[in-house]
Amino acid sequence: PAFRPPAVVGAGLRVPLATGGEAEYANLDYAASAPCLAEVKAAVDDALTTYASVHRGAGYASRISTGRYEAARAALAGFVGARADDQVVFVRNTTDALNLLAHALPAGCTVVVFETEHHAALLPWEGTAAAVRRLPAPAGPGEAVRAARAALRTAAPGPRLLCVTGASNVTGELWPVAELAAAARAEGARTVLDAAQLAPHRPVDIQALGVDYVALSGHKLYAPFGAGVLAGRADWLRAAPPYLRGGGATRSVGARTEWHEGPERHEAGSPNVIGAHALAAACAALVRTGRERIAARERELLDRLRRGLAAVPGVTELSLWAPERDRVGIAAFSVDGLPADLLAAALSAEHGIGVRDGLFCAHPLTRRLLPPGAATAVRASIGLGTTAEHVDRLVAAVRTLAADGPAWTYAPDDSGRPA
Ligand code: PMP
Repeated sequence: PAFRPPAVVGAGLRVPLATGGEAEYANLDYAASAPCLAEVKAAVDDALTTYASVHRGAGYASRISTGRYEAARAALAGFVGARADDQVVFVRNTTDALNLLAHALPAGCTVVVFETEHHAALLPWEGTAAAVRRLPAPAGPGEAVRAARAALRTAAPGPRLLCVTGASNVTGELWPVAELAAAARAEGARTVLDAAQLAPHRPVDIQALGVDYVALSGHKLYAPFGAGVLAGRADWLRAAPPYLRGGGATRSVGARTEWHEGPERHEAGSPNVIGAHALAAACAALVRTGRERIAARERELLDRLRRGLAAVPGVTELSLWAPERDRVGIAAFSVDGLPADLLAAALSAEHGIGVRDGLFCAHPLTRRLLPPGAATAVRASIGLGTTAEHVDRLVAAVRTLAADGPAWTYAPDDSGRPA
């Protein structure tokens, strides 16, 4: 039987069209946030029936919550292939995870990062005492490895960290993570993987990839907002001052404060137990479904999308490297003579299709890839709830809009309403 992906919430939603009538909503914005899986929602509903604050209460509900929270931590450790002595810290999202690591950098550290990164991976290091070396966009994956290695080798002596993206949120292109991590290791440096876009689409295994840290967000991984993870080497995290100061992070407070040395060191305050539980449920669902089957289905849909767009006159897809390079379910594109914000507004209002437009929090990369005359681009991105029909509708709508322009003008207030 054909592979039936697990259901997402909101499938089949009908949305009103500005042109009259309605359409089934085609959500092609998974790279921003994926809808939660139906089974994740069920796990959340179940958890909401019995919960209380973790670790501090001896009551029944507190025990249940504490058990769920720590079970989620163990589940996430398994999901990212953590080493036995790695720490798994619950944070809000990838941005938070990378800021935590930036906060925990040892003295005299140099961070090497490509300017092609999402701002969440590009900017946190700049607010620290670390020296930052920003590398220009590499011409290809081999060049990326060579450039990273050279930068790490010529950096000032001391701890060094290479920050790499698993999959670009602009082009979907896969970066040579294992090769980059091996190059870093050969230079005695560490690697942190921004897995925000990779984890929903491909296995992320700290040990198989040879990276030192992984950062990811639950809301891109079919769980709700508000829970993410930083997983990796314990030593820097243990030595760093607490990321948040307050209850739960301390062993004892008197004349001086003794902080925990485990992940709770950085998790002061009442934690997001339900979010962690939801994230663990999402990870379990993806593994149970089969990562390879998910990736194979997404490749087919992405192929259909990219081929369809390539056949529309005036469409240019954004790609840093060779177009045939493997990528996760993302296609960013621009249409000659049609501003991306107008195109995105018309796709929504006239066709019931949700995409994202802009520079995608990766300004240096997106600006570099835009064709002349384009200020921003549109990004279509797919996931478990995407169907071939959604993809075909997008391609047909882009064809119509590229040829005829929008039927309406749209309010500049970003509301998506016809003006
Ligand atoms: N890195 C990449 C590659 C991303 O796509 C994103 C989200 N767009 C982030 C980091 C930041 O994730 P979050 O907004 O969940 O912190």
